[in-house]
Amino acid sequence: MTRSAPSDEKGGLAEGLFFDIRSPDTEEHEAIAAQRVAQLNHVPLLLGIAHLLCLAAVVVLSRGEFGSIHAMYVFGTVALALGCDAAGFALLSLARRHQLNPRTVTLAIGLLVGLSGLMMSFFAHLSSWIPAMNGGPMLPLLIGTSITAAAIVSIESPPLAVVSAVVGTIGTALFSDNPLFAGSIAALSLLVVGYSVVGARTMIANARQRLALAHEARKALHFVTEFENSGRGWFWETNSRGTLSYVSQQLADDFHTHPDALLGRQFTDLLSVDQNGDVMREERTLGFHLSARFPFSDVVVRAATNDDVHWSLSGNPIFDQRGRFLGFRGIGTDLTEQRRNEQEISRLARFDSLTGLPNRAMMRQTLEEALRNAGFRRKGCTLFLIDLDRFKNVNDTLGHPIGDALLRQVAERLKLAIGDHGQVGRLGGDEFKAVLPGTVETGLLESLARTLIDQVSRPYQIEGHRVQIGASVGIAIGDPERSCADSLIRNADLALYAAKAAGRGKHKFYEASMHSEASDRQVLENDLRQAIDRGELWVAYQPIVRSASEEVAGFEALVRWNHPTRGPVSPERFIPLAEESGLIPRIGEFVLRTALSDAAKWPDAVRIAVNLSPIQFNDPGIVDLVSSALDASKVRAERLELEITEGVFLTDSDATDDTFARLKALGVRLALDDFGTGYSSLGYLRKAPFDKIKIDQSFVRGAASSTNRNSAIIRAIVTLAETLGMDTTAEGVETHDDLALIRELGVSQVQGYIFGKPMRAVDASEVATKAHAEADGFSCIREPRQRLMRRAMAAIDGKPTEIRLRNISAMGALVESDRPVSPGGMLTIDIVGVGPVVGTVRWAQAGRFGVQFTEAFDLTRLAPKVEKRAPSAMLTPWYVNQQRDLAAG
Ligand code: C2E
Ligand code: MG
Ligand code: MG
Repeated sequence: MTRSAPSDEKGGLAEGLFFDIRSPDTEEHEAIAAQRVAQLNHVPLLLGIAHLLCLAAVVVLSRGEFGSIHAMYVFGTVALALGCDAAGFALLSLARRHQLNPRTVTLAIGLLVGLSGLMMSFFAHLSSWIPAMNGGPMLPLLIGTSITAAAIVSIESPPLAVVSAVVGTIGTALFSDNPLFAGSIAALSLLVVGYSVVGARTMIANARQRLALAHEARKALHFVTEFENSGRGWFWETNSRGTLSYVSQQLADDFHTHPDALLGRQFTDLLSVDQNGDVMREERTLGFHLSARFPFSDVVVRAATNDDVHWSLSGNPIFDQRGRFLGFRGIGTDLTEQRRNEQEISRLARFDSLTGLPNRAMMRQTLEEALRNAGFRRKGCTLFLIDLDRFKNVNDTLGHPIGDALLRQVAERLKLAIGDHGQVGRLGGDEFKAVLPGTVETGLLESLARTLIDQVSRPYQIEGHRVQIGASVGIAIGDPERSCADSLIRNADLALYAAKAAGRGKHKFYEASMHSEASDRQVLENDLRQAIDRGELWVAYQPIVRSASEEVAGFEALVRWNHPTRGPVSPERFIPLAEESGLIPRIGEFVLRTALSDAAKWPDAVRIAVNLSPIQFNDPGIVDLVSSALDASKVRAERLELEITEGVFLTDSDATDDTFARLKALGVRLALDDFGTGYSSLGYLRKAPFDKIKIDQSFVRGAASSTNRNSAIIRAIVTLAETLGMDTTAEGVETHDDLALIRELGVSQVQGYIFGKPMRAVDASEVATKAHAEADGFSCIREPRQRLMRRAMAAIDGKPTEIRLRNISAMGALVESDRPVSPGGMLTIDIVGVGPVVGTVRWAQAGRFGVQFTEAFDLTRLAPKVEKRAPSAMLTPWYVNQQRDLAAG
């Protein structure tokens, strides 16, 4: 820091002489001139006293001779002099109040002094004319008093001294006839002038020095205030006893008090000793430095307040010139904000800013910790990987702010669902993770996963939008000894993939076989990319038949993939893959164009239904695509039926409504596919302009069985559809029983194997031309069947008959028999090596009949048993034994 050093040089003679009457040209001059003029305040008073003294002397010495004209002059002169004094007094008080120019004031006082001198000389001269005083000591006394008074009042200011010297010398010379006296007065006056000049010079020099010091001090104070106000720190100072002798406002603010309240307090009292290791260590360091009187810098301490205030302190001991310790002086910096920022940064590094959940890095740490603990506790830990289904759709159609709000709500629900069992975190995007230390019981894990999926799948209300998503969960259980975080994450990831592949909204536990499946999926996806170009995709058509007339109403186009090495791959497998990998628009377009060009060859009354994936539906170009495909094929728009699943409603946005409206405007028909799966909300039906509801296979299949309530549900759907003027199609009708029920329930159309499986275009064309389909299938619902060729015995019409079981399930069996049976009768079948099974004949046709078992049959009983002992009586059916017993009598 540069400093302007105060000069202690004295100015020249002229400066001393004329300083008081020069116009001030610098601030410094002005300030010193103001100080100097203040010294003249007493001048009128002193002069007044001198004049009064003279007056008293005249009164006393004139011995009552007041009547003479001379006496009148004398008194008149004194009165005038006193008047001038009063005027001078008034001027000075005016100058003080209004800060008049010092130069003017000095000049005015100079005039006063001059006049006073003149009047005193005149006064002395006149008094000598008063007879009583003539020849006495009066004249010298008065002149002496005047000179002394003039010297006293003017000694402070050289110009005044000069004036009094000149006036005194001239007056004495004029009115005194003693040359020696006049000479002495002149010499004395010169002396006073000289003394005054010297005094003035010294005073001016001192004042200059003081001003310079004051300026420096002000500057220093300014810097201190600037620094302290900048918030970057504050100064502190203690005395030799360690008590505070300077307290900044900032420091006082930290204690919510006034600086004065802290003055005199021990500095160390302001520091808190808490249990925080680092800070405590630093405070000890500070204590050591203070008592050892060592300088210190950047020692972090905590303030002894209830707020979490931290300072960094630096200080230097102060010693005087003789080496005596005076105290410490230093600066402090507030670290609170910085520490808060550091904490915030570390929080941001560990937590997801959107949901406030721990982030990927933190979850990784948690998992590793849980695994380490698992080792100690000898109890494993479980990892859930949670992926939201259809979240991307919400984000794309309703925008990111809604997506963000959704994620926040999901985070809350996940936290609630996992509760105390573990820690939930967000990995990014729509991926979440939960670490469950010590929880490995599959039953509990399963129920947790299910709760979690249910909770996430409940509808959300976000800014007036009703949003519905789902969740899939992959679960990996870590072994206390062997698992590492990486492998556990990979396993959970594979399990998650399997859960998604299983149709979403599902949870899956990791299994070793998933490793190969994952790479398999990757390979399949790569193959699918090339499948269209290589012509491996083709379209099959499944008839949709009017249930009353059995006329073919239309066909549903179903894509097929003939993989060069794997053979046919199910669309259930590759459609989700195409949706995930972004291939669905191309595949969808291929199916639409192919289906329309095939349908163009069919009779005009036969419709063509094409499936639209929600991803295609949400593509802004879908309406143009449909329109262009219709134009290209020349198929009437009314013949095209687009099948849409409920997935498109999960984000019910204006865009969805708009697409519906524009598709309707083209004239195409819209069908709601797979109704009843997942999110069925009847609300959609009122809103969207559907022409048809396709009741999902899961309701249809087995509806005829008395044990389920599906028929009631189908009835409700049909009633609703009729009210809204929509057609209904029952999907997946395979058996005569179900067909009969579907008809009875009033479902208008049927699609299922009973009327035909998906077929090649040529075959479809043939069926379309025939316009009629025939029901062909089993009579009733079949449980998972086991094909077999097993001989058995049964008593038909009381006669033991050999029968052949063609297939069997837990519920019943398909039986071949040469002897006809009639439906409705009870039958006991004795399967060789298994034992008797009782059932009812449900149907019979051309040497075959179906038996429905009275009690569920355990299929494992069919597994061949390795018997060591000799074949038992079981080889001989019970009724044979019975007959033998009867014959034996
Ligand atoms: P979906 O649209 O519900 O099609 C009906 C599915 O049920 C077809 O399966 C069909 O073969 C099958 N099905 C019909 N009747 C019966 C029956 O009586 N019994 C049984 N067990 N199944 C029957 P597929 O062809 O395997 O297709 C499965 C799903 O794949 C379709 O369900 C549809 O969601 C999707 N899909 C098929 N082709 C396409 C397509 O071109 N585009 C899109 N986006 N999805 C398609
Ligand atoms: Mg369909
Ligand atoms: Mg369907």
